[in-house]
Amino acid sequence: MALRNVRLNGDEILRKKSREVDKIDDRILTIIDDMVDTMYDRDGVGLAAPQIGILKRLVVIDVDNENLYKMINPKIIKSSGEAVDEEGCLSVPETRGNVVRPSNVTVEYTDVNGELKVLEGEGLLARCICHELDHLDGILFIDKIKN
Ligand code: ZN
Repeated sequence: MALRNVRLNGDEILRKKSREVDKIDDRILTIIDDMVDTMYDRDGVGLAAPQIGILKRLVVIDVDNENLYKMINPKIIKSSGEAVDEEGCLSVPETRGNVVRPSNVTVEYTDVNGELKVLEGEGLLARCICHELDHLDGILFIDKIKN
């Protein structure tokens, strides 16, 4: 188990665009494992690689402590509906705010075995997918807060 430092708002790496992963090697798998450890250690429901200072399109999500998703090059291929709810972020501690997100999203990603997966999420899972994927494009939830 290895924990990584979580980058905080103001760190410019959080504002950069992450690159696609072209090869799933041991280095990538270690990064993903460390992301999972770091997410659980901080009681987060999701973490994106830029949050630990790595500009690669990697996201881990677990919103119910039952289903852990490790996503490589995730892409939202369908979204619908609209929902407002409060969000927070390990990179922006002590800030919470209401953000509008699609209520349903379908995400396509490569799993750790190199297989292409399609996942449909609603509610908190949809919200979390959108939040984490935004990180890969340098977007933070505070950019989208509406009061
Ligand atoms: Zn976040």
